[in-house]
Amino acid sequence: MTDPPRVLILGGGFGGVGAARKLAKADADIVLVDSHDYHTFQPMLYQVATDLLSDDEVAHPLRDLFHDQPNVAVHEATATSLDLDARVVEFDDMAPIEFDYLVLALGAQVNFFGVEGAADHAFPMYTLADAVRLKEHVLGRWEAADRDPALVADGALSIVVVGGGPTGVESVGALSELYRSDFSKDYPSLPIDRASLTLVEAGPVLFSMFEPELQAYASETLSGYGVELLLDEVVAAVSPSRVTLKSGRELKAHTLVWGAGLQASPLAATADVDLERGGRIPVGPELATLEHPDVYAVGDIAWITDSDTGEALPQLGSVALQSGERAGENIARRIAGQAQEAFSYHDKGTMATIGPGAAVIQFPRGRTMKGRTASLAWGAVHLALLSTGEDRTKAMLNWAWAGFTHERSSRIVIDLEDE
Ligand SMILES: Cc1cc2nc3c(=O)[nH]c(=O)nc-3n(C[C@H](O)[C@H](O)[C@H](O)COP(=O)(O)OP(=O)(O)OC[C@H]3O[C@@H](n4cnc5c(N)ncnc54)[C@H](O)[C@@H]3O)c2cc1C
Repeated sequence: MTDPPRVLILGGGFGGVGAARKLAKADADIVLVDSHDYHTFQPMLYQVATDLLSDDEVAHPLRDLFHDQPNVAVHEATATSLDLDARVVEFDDMAPIEFDYLVLALGAQVNFFGVEGAADHAFPMYTLADAVRLKEHVLGRWEAADRDPALVADGALSIVVVGGGPTGVESVGALSELYRSDFSKDYPSLPIDRASLTLVEAGPVLFSMFEPELQAYASETLSGYGVELLLDEVVAAVSPSRVTLKSGRELKAHTLVWGAGLQASPLAATADVDLERGGRIPVGPELATLEHPDVYAVGDIAWITDSDTGEALPQLGSVALQSGERAGENIARRIAGQAQEAFSYHDKGTMATIGPGAAVIQFPRGRTMKGRTASLAWGAVHLALLSTGEDRTKAMLNWAWAGFTHERSSRIVIDLEDE
């Protein structure tokens, strides 16, 4: 063990940042490495994709988050392999780093489940780059149709969203608002009624994790926005202009948004541990991996069982933050010669938004909330979760502007290659 011990944290999402913050007072050198120089607030990515917020309002410089924590060094590099026995991690463009304690907080990434053409033509919604790419593609299709209206009949303005969970529902709801509030005015010569929005879900209901009352509310709300709901349907193939369903139906759409599945970071597979469903790393009650007591896994990459129910906890920001904090605290306790404490998830409720003034919340003992009150609560909770007061102020200003004027400020594309 080095003196002071080195704690290597891989990933600067909710889990990694939570762990690093809880080590603020520890006598340790903390090294936090992320492939980006920013922390992404994933729950609001759909607002970037639909021009409500700009990219720097949902991402925050990682270095800035640790100005007041001198025991943390931040590096931008991509981890490429883990050797847990030798206690060393390799990176793509940086010398290997040895560790005394390791926190794996690398999150999850999109899973296309091998659907033909999806990796090349679908637009996932899991990273900041994904959100910006989708925004620019949709704007590009409207501009293309403006130049050549014949493209409308080919589905240039139509979007298929896959996945009836929160990511898919939030995305299609926000896209419908963008179409109705902004594009109808931006492109008065284009027939907005022929710009179809379709949500495809493999199961029989939307929001399968919520109570039936909230599922019905989500379906009614989206139908009210004019979104076509295709339940019990599965996407079989994707091309740049067509989406083919397993039932044989073909949809003309130049955009397919993928909100249908996640898998743990592929780095988990290099860890030489037995993985659980979705490639997640199983951990014990203190969040250390079963084979390596000095290696912790938190957030989306980890398979954490609920201490009350024995079920695996969902891949949520609140689970990632709380588990990251517990892992950080446990490492700090070990360094101080104290006993570790078991992780216990404090479930404050699960929420999702559908559109303006429409959201759902399910509280732990079955109580539910929906509509405008739930939407206000969603806004308050998500504002509070943003990294800094500056981010919160910027987001509030943009929401207020969009709420009063029904206009969004960031619907432009800057093509750096053309300049
Ligand atoms: C569109 C969307 C909406 C969501 N909405 C909600 C919501 O409303 N409420 C909620 O509770 N949860 C929501 N979630 C889930 C929540 O965002 C995640 O559960 C949470 O971000 C997981 O945190 P994490 O720290 O485990 O991983 P992440 O936040 O994904 O962070 C992982 C970090 O690791 C870095 N990384 C990955 N690979 C490497 C590598 N090889 N080397 C170095 N760095 C690497 C990444 O750059 C990233 O910064 C949503 C997720 C998405 C995608």
